[in-house]
Amino acid sequence: MKRIAVLTSGGDAPGMNAAIRAVVRTAIYHNVEVIGVMRGYSGLIHGEFVKMDLGSVADIIHRGGTILHTARSQEFLTEDGRQRAVQKMKEAGIEGLVAIGGDGTFRGAAALDKLGIPTIGVPGTIDNDIPCTSLTIGFDTVVNTVVDAINKIRDTATSHERIFVIEVMGRNAGFIALAAGLAGGAESILIPEIPADVTTVVDNIRRGLARGKRHSIILVAEGVGDVREITEKITKLSGLETRLSILGYIQRGGTPTALDRILASRMGAEAVRLLLKGERAKMIGIAGEEIKSFDIQWALQQKKEIDLDQYNLAGILSI
Ligand code: ATP
Repeated sequence: MKRIAVLTSGGDAPGMNAAIRAVVRTAIYHNVEVIGVMRGYSGLIHGEFVKMDLGSVADIIHRGGTILHTARSQEFLTEDGRQRAVQKMKEAGIEGLVAIGGDGTFRGAAALDKLGIPTIGVPGTIDNDIPCTSLTIGFDTVVNTVVDAINKIRDTATSHERIFVIEVMGRNAGFIALAAGLAGGAESILIPEIPADVTTVVDNIRRGLARGKRHSIILVAEGVGDVREITEKITKLSGLETRLSILGYIQRGGTPTALDRILASRMGAEAVRLLLKGERAKMIGIAGEEIKSFDIQWALQQKKEIDLDQYNLAGILSI
């Protein structure tokens, strides 16, 4: 293999730059050229290609977002769009692709592989909702960002003796809410995987009040439902002043943690090694300390379950 390409797609995640850097430098180390594709699959269709060298990935390991930019491409969802992408790649002499992104990006990668371009997926998404890997690039950073926000909000909650509902990202999955809730000592955690029960939340608050606790942090994942309604319900049922804080986009950016940078570096390098070994249609994952790879189609059919032990533990520790 003489020339490969790398792209980032779907939502941006801290650590994507570290992964791009690892792909570019590992490939060049093995005398393989690297093309950076701008704006994910949209850039593939429109031939937005940039030749990468060692300098193009200098000074990016610590930066959030992605220097290649990212996009969600409707065109790529069509057979015609994908054929045009393959045509552009062939014209540019691209023989393999590393696609960094979430499960949608992996579906795209699998489709491209079927059209003859060997493709490897690297899990880059803050949601951590990809099967076959205990961690995705960006998750550790977002959890730390949310914990930092909880710490700050808790100061106000304690001072004013108030209940705070904090909404965090996770449209379909509660991994961020669970990890940040456990680390931040939230009194209640509501996630889409486990039916929301506001009565239990209010019982927790009352139990806390009975033993002299005068504030509460309730962490709610986006996917649970209308957080304003949930907040109103808590106010009504508890009769206590409740404030809502929606963290929103401050969660997605920011400098990646050391853990995310190391994970991204290892996964990016492994993706290139697999391509050079002639492997294809794989996704990279981590289990324990070990970097592994899985058939991407098979992986997409698996479901990543929430860790119920951790969920129950968070409940026990917040009594
Ligand atoms: P995140 O988890 O951060 O949202 P993602 O990779 O899941 O990231 P998506 O928007 O779902 O984000 O997917 C990114 C892009 O991948 C889509 O815009 C689309 O171009 C492509 N894609 C998604 N699903 C498919 C599919 N079934 N077939 C081909 N391409 C797909």
